[in-house]
Formats: sequence, structure tokens, C-alpha cells
Amino acid sequence: GVLVVGSITADVTAFSRRLPHRGETVLGDDVTLVLGGKGANQAVAAARGGAPTWLVGCVGKDPFSEIVLAGLHSHGVVSTEIRTVGNRTGVAHIRVDASGENDIVITPLANSDLSVDMVEESIRAVRDRASVLLLQLEIRTEVACHAAEAGAHAGLTVVLDPAPAQSLPDRVWPHVAIVTPNESEATALTGVEVVDLESAERAAAWFLDRGVRHALITLGAAGALSVTPEQTRHFPAYPVNPVDTTAAGDAFTGSLGAALAGGLDTATAIRRGMAAGALATTRPGASPSLPDREAVDELINL
Ligand code: ADP
Repeated sequence: GVLVVGSITADVTAFSRRLPHRGETVLGDDVTLVLGGKGANQAVAAARGGAPTWLVGCVGKDPFSEIVLAGLHSHGVVSTEIRTVGNRTGVAHIRVDASGENDIVITPLANSDLSVDMVEESIRAVRDRASVLLLQLEIRTEVACHAAEAGAHAGLTVVLDPAPAQSLPDRVWPHVAIVTPNESEATALTGVEVVDLESAERAAAWFLDRGVRHALITLGAAGALSVTPEQTRHFPAYPVNPVDTTAAGDAFTGSLGAALAGGLDTATAIRRGMAAGALATTRPGASPSLPDREAVDELINL
């Protein structure tokens, strides 16, 4: 199974012909309220990818928590490790115009209450049933770093999606089995401007130099570059017609984690992740756009 430690938000998205200028009010065409947050999205992607999946995170005692928990349950994510805290459920407030341009305010709220103790408790609770730990950086940095260390010590394969990008203490990297930045995250973390395969390989070397076993740089429509000390390998993307690239990275990481937890070899797991990422771009939205394993298998075998 897969243990995801990360953020949970209610995503409130307003769609209007154009975004308002500062101080202006515009009329919207539609509004949606769905489960979001990188932790929740990756948990949904892993569960839809066929792995028993636990999410460790925090929600509040408010109407939004019912909506996000219902979303997690409907996709098969196990919620026993989700705590209800005094703070309110985190919210992402998103505005999208007719061209697809957006702006976003994420307010962490309850996500800031996720603690080192909660993470340790949850790792102890599911370590016998999980083999992969998925981490992102929408929770407190200290908690994410501690989760990597505790997960590695518990024998879990730690997969870190360093998003949103921020610098981390050097001691975290040796606990990371696989790091999965996109081009801009790899650029921000390594200082190597990632624009092509050659620069992606140099950015990957930065991670390997710091003790990461496997750097997997995702390159959108250009696929992914996989670098280990033994081998550098480019995986071309699956061709699709994208309509909304939101959550492609979450689909990639969640599906990769599910495949690894299912005992598949690394190359197959990467292909599963890439196919899931490609499919996520063909549907609008975040968690509602995440594909199931059947759709992923179909794209891989086309
Ligand atoms: P993020 O969403 O974090 O920026 P990417 O855009 O790199 O991540 O997407 C993750 C993976 O999803 C890519 O490695 C690729 O395999 C797949 N993917 C993303 N965008 C496309 C696309 N336009 N066409 C095909 N595959 C895509």
C-alpha cells in the first residue's frame, strides 16, 4: 500500500470570462467546490491506481471537511489517519478566465497543524501494510523532513515531490529514494535552469550528489528523465490533447507510487505515472481529472 503525508484543501474555483482587475467585480459563469491539495490529489491518484492508500493530514470541524472527506472516500482513500483539529479546513481559492489563465490563493489553515507526532503515529500504524511513502511540500517543512527520515527508517520507499519548491536542509536528501520535481521545481532547487534533457541531467546530478537514489525530472509534454547512478534514461510522453494541465504532476506521482507499491519494476511504474499524468491533462480540474488504472493501462498498451 501507499502512505501519503500531505495537504488537504477544499478547492473553490470561480470561472469568469476574464479575471477582475484589482478592486473590480466581475460576473462569473460557474463555480465549483472539490477536494484538492497535493496530498489529497496524490492519495486519490494512488488509490485510483489500484493501491490501498492512507492519507495522513488534517482537516477542521466545518462544512468543508465533510466535502473533502466525502471526496477522499468516493475515490477509495482510507481516512483513518486524517485528524480533525480545532483550526478550519484548508482552502484553495482559484479564479480561471475563459483562456484558462488562473490565479490561486492557498490558505493552509488545518494543514499547518499536521505535526511530527501525528506523522510518526501514522507511520507506526500502517508500516506493516504500506511500502511507499509519498511526500510533497504543502505542509510544514519540518514535518515533511521528519516524515522522510521516519519513513526511511521504517523501511518505506520515500518518494518526494518537492512542490511547491523550497530549499530543504541537506540532511533530508539521503532519506529520499525518488525525487520527482517538474522543470521549474528542479530549476528552483538546483540552480540549474532546466530547459532540455541535457540541463535536466545536470539538475538530476545535484540531487544524486546529495544522496537521493533516483531523480525523476518530469518535463510535461517532453516526458520524464530518469537518472540513477547506474543509468540515465529518457521516457517520451504519451501523446494526448491536453485541455487543463492541473494535477498532471500529482497524477504522475500518485500513480508511480501505486505501481511501486504493487511490486512493479521502476520503468513500468514510471510509464504508469506518465500515462496517468497525460490522461489528467485531458480532463479539466484537479482531483476529478485523475484517471483509474484501467484508463492508464489502456493508454500504455495503445
Ligand atoms: P507538473 O504538473 O508537476 O508540472 P508535468 O507537467 O511535468 O508535472 O507532468 C507530469 C507528467 O505528466 C509528465 O512527465 C508527462 O509524462 C505527463 N504529462 C504532462 N503534460 C503532458 C502533456 N501535455 N502531454 C503528455 N503527457 C503529459
